[in-house]
Amino acid sequence: MSADTVSKAAYIVAALLFILALAGLSRHETSRGGVVFGIAGMAIALAGTIGLAVDGGEGRHGLAATGVALLVVAMVIGAVIGLWRARIVEMTGMPELIALLHSFVGLAAVLVGWDGYYGVEAKPNGVEAQRLVVEQTLRIHHAEVFIGVFIGAVTFTGSIVAFLKLSARIKSSPLMLPGKNFLNLGSLVVFVGLTVAFVVHPSLGLLIAVTAVALALGWHLVASIGGGDMPVVVSMLNSYSGWAAAASGFLLDNNLLIVTGALVGSSGAYLSYIMCQAMNRSFISVIAGGFGIEQTAEDSTDYGEHREINAEGAAEMLKDATSVIITPGYGMAVAQAQYPVADLTKKLRERGIEVRFGIHPVAGRLPGHMNVLLAEAKVPYDIVLEMDEINDDFHDTSVVLVIGANDTVNPSAAEDPSSPIAGMPVLHVWEAQNVIVFKRSMAAGYAGVQNPLFFRDNSQMLFGDAKQRVEDIIKAL
Ligand code: NDP
Repeated sequence: MSADTVSKAAYIVAALLFILALAGLSRHETSRGGVVFGIAGMAIALAGTIGLAVDGGEGRHGLAATGVALLVVAMVIGAVIGLWRARIVEMTGMPELIALLHSFVGLAAVLVGWDGYYGVEAKPNGVEAQRLVVEQTLRIHHAEVFIGVFIGAVTFTGSIVAFLKLSARIKSSPLMLPGKNFLNLGSLVVFVGLTVAFVVHPSLGLLIAVTAVALALGWHLVASIGGGDMPVVVSMLNSYSGWAAAASGFLLDNNLLIVTGALVGSSGAYLSYIMCQAMNRSFISVIAGGFGIEQTAEDSTDYGEHREINAEGAAEMLKDATSVIITPGYGMAVAQAQYPVADLTKKLRERGIEVRFGIHPVAGRLPGHMNVLLAEAKVPYDIVLEMDEINDDFHDTSVVLVIGANDTVNPSAAEDPSSPIAGMPVLHVWEAQNVIVFKRSMAAGYAGVQNPLFFRDNSQMLFGDAKQRVEDIIKAL
């Protein structure tokens, strides 16, 4: 059997495993299996690709010994860095790591595009260019190079800005350049014009121009999007990285890369769409860099005084409660408070108090963040409810414990049309009889917006590290 046939068979198996991986990852209970399918698919894909490169396939020379050695060295370096990062990354740092990984896919697509240019367009009399002339696909190659470089460069800088915002290295508020929508649309028009010019008459100058335009566009698109919309941006960049990989697949004539890129591209786009619906954001507005969103004024409202409670007071209140809802957020992840929270839940349920969890779709820093933490601490699935399932129950609830959540329980999203997070559905915790907010200070949440919940008559602040404070309550109980 030839190396071409073996690698094609390997690619089909890998593509099927990737589909199974996506299916597995869509549910809590099957996600471990999904990861195993993904790893197996990637191992088979790598083996197929390397095998083909070493052999060369039909009518081509295989890699020389130095080429194989370089490949092995690159893989070892990549694997060591990957294993090291995966070991040390905290759950709270996952979104920024994912954003950084997307930037690599974007950069790879740019490099593949440039390599394609030097292999064909820069050598019009070379063997490869002449083969494409005979096949009458030379112009298609020009388009593949150009589009691949464009998508890759947008993904590259967009992902870097997302990484910088998510890791708080730059401010998460949206960049509001004058005429920002015009800049984005203008860049797209320039891209279309440059593509036509390149397909008709390819040149290095045009390739440099499209790379520069796309790098600037990617930077501007993500910089223009505010903190609250970042979850959608991360999944959108995931989608862009998939399309960038698919574009590279066309250039490299690699079917698996095309299939995998399309899977990532379409699933990322669909996830972004679902998230936009859940957050009441316009999909078009978010992917077009906050298109149509205007700068909102600084909030200078005087909300009055907040009230404080200590752990003993909170324990007393919980003893008298008949029903409790816990709404966790990013702060629970930072404090790693899920274990004492699970303990507290158990203790309250033993006293006959009904305890449930209300999970906002973008609580924490990645979709499903809270569900993963609670599952880790063995909180039963059946008391962990989605926002829509629990939002009507708050007014019948004795006590709500807001543990390290802020934006996702902010009433101004529902009540103040001028708020930067206006329209984002939130957990209606303020409708409960009593609300206890666990956080360390009066600081704003991720979106940088003040939270009027903290000043309501039925709210009390329990300051300090969430893990410590929950443990104090357990002691007091
Ligand atoms: P927020 O990020 O709005 O607020 C978290 C709160 O936790 C802060 O106000 C902070 O207050 C508090 N906190 C931090 N550390 C601790 C600690 N050790 N102990 C106690 N409290 C702590 O959280 P939410 O989960 O409510 O909202 C998520 C936000 O993140 C949304 O704006 C969402 O759009 C955005 N986002 C979500 C993503 C996702 O996919 N889920 C991805 C990217 C962004 P203090 O400092 O005073 O303690």
